[in-house]
Amino acid sequence: LNTVFLIIGVAAGALAIVLGALLARRIARPVAKTAEGTRRMAQGEYSVRLSENTGTAELDDLMRSINQLAAALGEQETLRKRLTADVAHELRTPLTAVTLYLEAMMEGLWEATPERLKSCHEELTRLSELVKDIQQLANAEGGALQLRKEATDLQELAQAVCASLSAQAYAKQQTLTVAGSPAFANADRERMRQVLVNLISNAIKYTPEGGRITVETQAGEKFATICVSDNGIGIAQAEQALIFERFYRADASRSRDTGGAGIGLAIAKAVVTAHGGSIAVTSKPGQGSSFTVSLPTA
Ligand code: ADP
Repeated sequence: LNTVFLIIGVAAGALAIVLGALLARRIARPVAKTAEGTRRMAQGEYSVRLSENTGTAELDDLMRSINQLAAALGEQETLRKRLTADVAHELRTPLTAVTLYLEAMMEGLWEATPERLKSCHEELTRLSELVKDIQQLANAEGGALQLRKEATDLQELAQAVCASLSAQAYAKQQTLTVAGSPAFANADRERMRQVLVNLISNAIKYTPEGGRITVETQAGEKFATICVSDNGIGIAQAEQALIFERFYRADASRSRDTGGAGIGLAIAKAVVTAHGGSIAVTSKPGQGSSFTVSLPTA
């Protein structure tokens, strides 16, 4: 009996060692590969993808998460590079113009007439506006935005903003009306004023003479909404998701005339998101656009 026990014990021990070693290898190999993959990602190689078929559900899950992380990091990297290029481009244009003007005046090729100085001044004003916008966007997106939330009637705010922009609409013979019912949202009045100014001045800019712009507010149970609609040039379906990106302009050459840098909607989105709300667009080219902002009720 003792011999039999001994044999069984030794055999069981040997089997346990072999199985343990096999199992350890099965887990250790993908873990080592993961470590290698994440090391490469840390060095900036975001195209690395780990195999998601290790045979262990938990490990597969981990690989999937790491792959998603790499994809997200890659996307951020692309955005970061594009942002730098866009900022450089936006700053270069006015700077080049002013530099050329000043050089020509210093060399005596041009007389420093009030008109030429005014033109330099305009370019510099455009530059400082742009820098201010970028600063605002950085604050809004970086979470540094201090919101002073209070019960704010969006309809009353819309009326105030429309009054301040009525001269612009009048100059283009557009009708600018506020409709709907009082809608109280828990919002920072000043920030939301900025959002509305961006949306309504866009509607004025991108609607031809004689057009119609309506701002409609509505109170809901959980969300108060404000909708800015125009019957202007509209936005192509493919571009609707992109217009909220920083520096994105639908049809760059056309928008260049209007002087925008493509930052207004990015700021609007960042501010609305910071409020716990959302912003969406529906539009048909040639027929008009409609931007809807939903904010949590007061
Ligand atoms: P911009 O300063 O160029 O107006 P925005 O971020 O405010 O920048 O808008 C981004 C782009 O979205 C604009 O360049 C324009 O092409 C498009 N857009 C915004 N609002 C409207 C609108 N009401 N109608 C048509 N196009 C619009």
